[in-house]
Amino acid sequence: MAIQLYSEHKYMTVPPKTFPLNSPFYLFFFFPQSSTLNLKFTSTSLIPFRLLFFAISLNKVEMGLTSSLRFHRQNNKTFLGIFMILVLSCIPGRTNLCSNHSVSTPKELPSSNPSDIRSSLVSLDLEGYISFDDVHNVAKDFGNRYQLPPLAILHPRSVFDISSMMKHIVHLGSTSNLTVAARGHGHSLQGQALAHQGVVIKMESLRSPDIRIYKGKQPYVDVSGGEIWINILRETLKYGLSPKSWTDYLHLTVGGTLSNAGISGQAFKHGPQINNVYQLEIVTGKGEVVTCSEKRNSELFFSVLGGLGQFGIITRARISLEPAPHMVKWIRVLYSDFSAFSRDQEYLISKEKTFDYVEGFVIINRTDLLNNWRSSFSPNDSTQASRFKSDGKTLYCLEVVKYFNPEEASSMDQETGKLLSELNYIPSTLFSSEVPYIEFLDRVHIAERKLRAKGLWEVPHPWLNLLIPKSSIYQFATEVFNNILTSNNNGPILIYPVNQSKWKKHTSLITPNEDIFYLVAFLPSAVPNSSGKNDLEYLLKQNQRVMNFCAAANLNVKQYLPHYETQKEWKSHFGKRWETFAQRKQAYDPLAILAPGQRIFQKTTGKLSPIQLAKSKATGSPQRYHYASILPKPRTV
Ligand code: FAD
Repeated sequence: MAIQLYSEHKYMTVPPKTFPLNSPFYLFFFFPQSSTLNLKFTSTSLIPFRLLFFAISLNKVEMGLTSSLRFHRQNNKTFLGIFMILVLSCIPGRTNLCSNHSVSTPKELPSSNPSDIRSSLVSLDLEGYISFDDVHNVAKDFGNRYQLPPLAILHPRSVFDISSMMKHIVHLGSTSNLTVAARGHGHSLQGQALAHQGVVIKMESLRSPDIRIYKGKQPYVDVSGGEIWINILRETLKYGLSPKSWTDYLHLTVGGTLSNAGISGQAFKHGPQINNVYQLEIVTGKGEVVTCSEKRNSELFFSVLGGLGQFGIITRARISLEPAPHMVKWIRVLYSDFSAFSRDQEYLISKEKTFDYVEGFVIINRTDLLNNWRSSFSPNDSTQASRFKSDGKTLYCLEVVKYFNPEEASSMDQETGKLLSELNYIPSTLFSSEVPYIEFLDRVHIAERKLRAKGLWEVPHPWLNLLIPKSSIYQFATEVFNNILTSNNNGPILIYPVNQSKWKKHTSLITPNEDIFYLVAFLPSAVPNSSGKNDLEYLLKQNQRVMNFCAAANLNVKQYLPHYETQKEWKSHFGKRWETFAQRKQAYDPLAILAPGQRIFQKTTGKLSPIQLAKSKATGSPQRYHYASILPKPRTV
């Protein structure tokens, strides 16, 4: 069977001709408020003044007592003084954030009645605003499998809006079931950015700070946590600079990818995106605004990176930059032997002088897929290329990229030629193309536009992302690509190794315990109202078969963008690091308010007795949270 060469990049494949006309093309990969200080004298905030009055009265009584009691009185005074300082410092509000904003915590705890909770949210003094009518807009995510509307959406205009919201919910404690999900672009797959009947914070509304670029020896850019990577790229390119590490798709937010890792073909060289951050500004689950870095508040810094949104909301990030190239040489070659393919990939990522990007993908029973590379990729030898026959074999495509500027074109050609000469691909299958750097990085967006136009973007995406240790990859590939999957008709399968020795160790990201491991991403789209292999249920079962095989063969696989239903599974995902993860949760989000859609911890709710309430308010002691095992499953759309 002659291989037809296809023009589109790997995220978009053309469905077989036998598909009905309505089958998808598959895309894969992939109120303004017063700003003056405005303390509200609510009944709660008057309490300290009543206590002060009481203390002064005590002092007056004391003046009439005998000298033998003075020592005790002196101690009492000291105690009273400390007590007063403590009480005064407990006045809630933003004043301790060096802000000129007003205190916005409502006076009384509302009842757990939704309309009371709602009015308590409305009473918050914000620069941005809260909406209730458009909650359906944030009830779903890219996975498109769950519909869980929040009670409200916060459109923040400043970090103080986010801090106020968090403090308010902390103040309500377990009398409310309010949780908070920061929402980037909602490109999660399993409801991770949803907050059922809680508050979704639309991070995109947080436009401060603007994108600010600092040139110099170690250039960097300061951005808002809700900024999307494509905007950062466009802005930094104006200065001839660019972030170093990417995802395959750039319409994702900084906060969203840093909460996971941000992995693409540059990660073997620069580590994932979480490796390339100098500083973060975080609003913790207690509402505190904290600046952190490797040296300052480092525990919080490392917790948040890869922390699945559990410890705080990223409101600002400082990202390292490097000089940006103008162009890239984009190369694809094919293999029919998995060992040769993976050996070459591992060889390339181990070399000092190598390509700037190394990825790969699997083509199972898709002769139609390779039908049109010619319009954007040129075969090195067109005669040979047209004669290549795949014989229905499973093929492995190595995809590499070399960055260059026009004046370096010939030395770049020499370097890539040398690197390619060291590889063992099928000689007639060398294809290349030269495109601007930005076009290469933003490649998936082109496919997105086409799919959106056909109404095929917002379909269910039962994606599965795995991190597989090098020692298991051959066994995995043999079973999964030859036996479990009979074709990848409904989406691409990415596969490429990364070199963990260059990755920072103390983040919350969980990876296999070997220096080299592979990212294997199954990225299918389910066709609505279809049956057979494009059906959602079929694809979910297929994922389960892959997972069952990994477990039975003990391959020590970890999920990337993890999703689990039970505490036992989460504990096993974290392994020895579970205790640290849970301790960090207790330290930074003790009420388990943040990112409920990850379903790791659950906020304990229910009205407290007046005694419990008074105790928890007085001591600030956290409510205990429960783990995922007791969580209800999300309602399927
Ligand atoms: P959301 O989905 O909105 O949020 C993700 C999680 O982070 C949620 O739990 C949310 O509460 C939390 N969160 C969001 N913002 C913040 C914040 N500011 N502070 C704290 N927590 C926050 N990933 C890769 O690593 N590599 C890829 O190549 C890649 N390609 C992709 C291609 C496509 C087409 C899609 C849809 C996804 C891809 N992803 C990839 C996955 C992507 O990294 C995740 O979906 C990630 O969640 C980013 O999406 P988002 O910004 O929309 O975040």
